Amino acid sequence: MGHEKTEASASNRAEPPNRTPVVHSLNLNRSGFNADSSAKRSTRVGPILAGLEAPAAVEPAAFPIGAGAEAFRRRFFPDATEADWNDWRWQLRNRLKTLADMERVFALTADERDAIERRSGALPVGVTPYYASLMGLDDPQEELRRTHLPVGDEFVKTPGEADDPLGEDHDSAVPGLVHRYPDRVLFLATGTCSTYCRYCTRSRMVGEPGGEYSFSRNQWDQAIAYIAAHPEIRDVLISGGDPLTLSDDRLDELLGRLRAIEHVEFIRIGTKIPVVLPQRITPGLTNVLRKHHPLWMSVHFTHPKELTPEVDEATSRLADAGVPLGSQTVLLKGINDDLAVIKPLMQGLLKRRVKPYYLYQCDPITGSSHFRTPIAKGLEIIEGLRGHTTGYAVPQFVIDAPGGGGKIPLLPDYIVGRDGDDLILRNFEGRTYRYTDPGGDLGASKPVAAE
Ligand code: SF4
Repeated sequence: MGHEKTEASASNRAEPPNRTPVVHSLNLNRSGFNADSSAKRSTRVGPILAGLEAPAAVEPAAFPIGAGAEAFRRRFFPDATEADWNDWRWQLRNRLKTLADMERVFALTADERDAIERRSGALPVGVTPYYASLMGLDDPQEELRRTHLPVGDEFVKTPGEADDPLGEDHDSAVPGLVHRYPDRVLFLATGTCSTYCRYCTRSRMVGEPGGEYSFSRNQWDQAIAYIAAHPEIRDVLISGGDPLTLSDDRLDELLGRLRAIEHVEFIRIGTKIPVVLPQRITPGLTNVLRKHHPLWMSVHFTHPKELTPEVDEATSRLADAGVPLGSQTVLLKGINDDLAVIKPLMQGLLKRRVKPYYLYQCDPITGSSHFRTPIAKGLEIIEGLRGHTTGYAVPQFVIDAPGGGGKIPLLPDYIVGRDGDDLILRNFEGRTYRYTDPGGDLGASKPVAAE
């Protein structure tokens, strides 16, 4: 059903209906970043008729600052103005990256301090000030802190773990382009993220481009040429790294070049930026995105603590720009592996027009054992959601099969057994029901005696 809705023709790549046009002048600076990104420069005006001046009243597209973030700003960045704080480039420039940065903000444990000093190469340490403001500064067990501050367990390799567990390098058609499924490709557009998750599937390459992953113009050219030469590719997922760390211009260029390929029907962006750097969702960016519909976005959420006023604003801007939003959540031990955490997260996402899409079993990357949960935990959570809340709030629980097997969905077993022509099913309350299924043999391995 979802696919039917994605098969839009070029003629309906226009603005979504019922939208007042938002007019912004793009002011590009020399670095290629959109200097219009700060809220103070944007204007929301009604339709402008030829020969008439724009209305004098200008509504600034202000970005909210939540109470926790504001207290954090005043305490740790007293010289930063609200405009600085709400400027995504300021957030990137002021990321917490070094041991000194971290010690200034967090009461580090000896284990965290050692891990920060010890690590090198890909998957650097990096947290935006905004996202740090959501973390427990004095509590090493706080959930969001555990996802971004390294600990010694990260250096312990356990059986079954690998640097590239999904075999993406093996399935790369050209550098940075994974062609595993018949009609779609994964385009790794950049190795940069605004924050670095310690359980990242691409921990082998993010934050340290080089070798196979240069993300140069030449690499993009090769990937785009491959897509253009393969008419079976109808869907391109742009990921990385985080594609929304690219400047508006670069993103516009990439989306435009892909959109120009006749057989590419559908583009998706995978990103964590709306959660960890919501200030990046500027009017300039949404203007770029709305040019390239149908464009969908998968946003990486972890915990209900992330559902802040800033995230409300970011998701509203994206949804208002006509971008359908889906969520991706990695199940993490002691962080969100609890129905009492996942349920409000999924319900909160629906309220923000984000459809819960995937709940992932954590991939067995090297050094991830402290994050991984038993498979049964994911099934237990799905069972606790299905029937107990809105169906739209139930994501699909999947394992990305090691070795490149792709995503495999897992469901709780609702088949109790079979009694002749009757299939015996269990509902969400544990009650059993008969469904007459003449000639079928589903459930035959579990015969049930007639009542
Ligand atoms: S934002 Fe995504 S790509 Fe970047 S470190 Fe986190 S999981 Fe990996």
